[in-house]
Amino acid sequence: MTTLAEAAPRAASAFRIEREGDLAVIWFDLPGEKINKFSTSAMEEFAAIVDEMERSRDIRRIILASGKPSIFIAGADVSEFTKVSTLEQARQYTRFGQQTFHRFSRLPQVTVAAINGACLGGGCEIAISCDYRVMSDNPKAVIGLPEVKLGIFPAWGGTTKLPRLIGLLPALDIILKGRTLDGRRAKRVGLVDEVVPGAILLDVAKQFSAKGKRSEGGRTKFYIEGNPLARRIIFAKARKNVLAETHGHYPAPLKAIEVMEHGMAAGIERGLAREVDEVAPLILGEAAQNLVRLFFLTEDAKKDRFRVAPREVGEVGVLGAGAMGGGIAQIVADKTDARVRMRDINWKALAGGMKAAARIWRKKVERRRMTRGEMQRKIARITTTTDWGGFEHVDLVIEAVVENLEIKRQVLAEFESVAKEGAIFATNTSTLPITEIAARAKNPERVVGMHFFNPVDRMPLIEVIRGEKTSEAAMATVAAFARKLGKTVVICNDGPGFVVNRILGPYMNEAGFLLEEGNTIESIDKAMVDFGMPMGPMALLDEVGIDVAAKVGVILKERFSGRIQQSRVVDMLYADHRLGKKGGKGLYVYEEGKRKAPDPAVYRLLSVTAPHPADAKQVVERMVLSMISEAALILQEKIVASAAELDLAMIMGTGFPPFRGGLLRYADSLGAQSIVARLEELTKRHGARFAPSEPLRRLAQRNAKFYEAYPRS
Ligand code: NAD
Repeated sequence: MTTLAEAAPRAASAFRIEREGDLAVIWFDLPGEKINKFSTSAMEEFAAIVDEMERSRDIRRIILASGKPSIFIAGADVSEFTKVSTLEQARQYTRFGQQTFHRFSRLPQVTVAAINGACLGGGCEIAISCDYRVMSDNPKAVIGLPEVKLGIFPAWGGTTKLPRLIGLLPALDIILKGRTLDGRRAKRVGLVDEVVPGAILLDVAKQFSAKGKRSEGGRTKFYIEGNPLARRIIFAKARKNVLAETHGHYPAPLKAIEVMEHGMAAGIERGLAREVDEVAPLILGEAAQNLVRLFFLTEDAKKDRFRVAPREVGEVGVLGAGAMGGGIAQIVADKTDARVRMRDINWKALAGGMKAAARIWRKKVERRRMTRGEMQRKIARITTTTDWGGFEHVDLVIEAVVENLEIKRQVLAEFESVAKEGAIFATNTSTLPITEIAARAKNPERVVGMHFFNPVDRMPLIEVIRGEKTSEAAMATVAAFARKLGKTVVICNDGPGFVVNRILGPYMNEAGFLLEEGNTIESIDKAMVDFGMPMGPMALLDEVGIDVAAKVGVILKERFSGRIQQSRVVDMLYADHRLGKKGGKGLYVYEEGKRKAPDPAVYRLLSVTAPHPADAKQVVERMVLSMISEAALILQEKIVASAAELDLAMIMGTGFPPFRGGLLRYADSLGAQSIVARLEELTKRHGARFAPSEPLRRLAQRNAKFYEAYPRS
């Protein structure tokens, strides 16, 4: 059998040792890469250095440092996970790294990590194998163990050793949530010993190396947690929290708890052995493989694929200060240096928009993520107006006025009459085709779709949409700006609802039919939450706003007339003056913005006399297969270029369960033929809305997969 180490290509030297008397500084600087990561070949080199240190008679102090500007070590080379194919390979791979780090931790020399930047996963594990950790105050310097986000847990010693270093509770928090901490917080929990300006990092590391080996123990927290009864209670609570959050879909955090529990009771060596045994099957498991693919997809989406360079954006306009406008102004001022000019037709809305923006920042201040001064400086970068004053300077305007074609066209015309040469008009429409909005524009090449999701500060996706006449330069500029806001960008071609809202259309519609048939609100939601969605469709409808959904429904119906058979639910709720969460009542009742209980009046409104719990399997089947059928059409129409990008959009835009790899990865796991067969059955039972779309049928005829038929270019 070929081991992973034998299969891996040889790289030039990743480490360099600099000697200064009895001190050795080990510089990690992976050639040809922007970041340091422990590929198998880098790990082999590192193991050889550990051998050398074990043999050395004259080296008494070791500092581990990075040659990259703002990265210490980003972790393992994740791409190697996808190459592991047997359990034994997975074990070997894990054990080799773990034992190398463990040997490093037992060197006779004093060891110090000089952490100048991101120190994640395997990077954090080697850092905690040192006697001391000194960290730069550079904002990019963060430390943590994000492994669970990739479907695994730290198994190069992290799960066994972190609780011993910082105590069980903070270790559980970091490992189970995949958290990363900045220097200040890392120091507070005892994960690093000192945080200093980058310029003196190495000097301070040297001072630490003169302190001598760190003595074990002395941690009062550990004594409390050393009590088996106290530990049992803590672990039981952690398990309960994980299950409540993951619904059992993510095995990694549960396994991490098991390993920690074992390691704390049975000692480090046994803990380490258990890490290897438990992580190996996870590496090969569906969840980790899907999460790793998603990681690469997200990385890939960061790359600029346009032939032209993006333009600089120094000043931004925001039109409309409603639910979206306030959030958009906030994120622009938060993440970029741009000045923001926000316009609405009334002052009350502007005050509301500013208040909403301030609320987001205030939360950050409360959580000590920013200072009050920083918040005030950012707020001061947003100015407001009810006229067009100041818009002659903006490079990019983001339009978020009401979802009405005529009003959007009017606003675009007004903007063009004051705009400077080259200024871009990006519309945040949810559903209206960009080409229709730009139909009467003087410069349709500068009109782009920039579709944010609600709430703007938390939702990670922006769809950037090309209208018929949109220029490459405008697309490149808006895509680059969206990335600057920290968002994942999916490039779309034009069409009603683009990708996410178009697919959500049939999904929400089906939820309506299920409700009309007498299934209870909470049972429909529960079925989808158990499937892995972050919230059920009923709660989502309330969250989005029933008024908004009603408008979206009208637009989609107009554009896809004949094909869509619409449930009456949204219109009836809207007619009953239910707005959803923002109005205090929708499908659920809300008190002070908090969802309380399903509103029984909804059943009366829909003439449902005996509401009953839904059959969860049927709910999932009806709702998910409807989406898959629509997704096939979207790919055929080239609204999005590949199955992978569609999946990325659905995961980032709706929270479609990442461990399933996305809607179409899930569809491929079912197989097109069985999907078509199920849809035909549903058509017989419930009507033509379930008729499988043409491209889906063709896929089934060829017995092909979405990922083969629509590959990434
Ligand atoms: P909203 O009704 O909360 O806000 C719209 C604002 O636009 C109001 O304050 C209104 O006074 C203002 N306005 C109306 N005409 C204007 C004009 N001529 N000039 C300047 N301002 C004007 O709406 P919203 O929910 O913020 O949605 C705005 C846009 O964003 C819509 O196109 C909507 O489809 C889209 N969108 C909404 C969501 C969502 O979940 N709410 C998500 C994504 C996109």
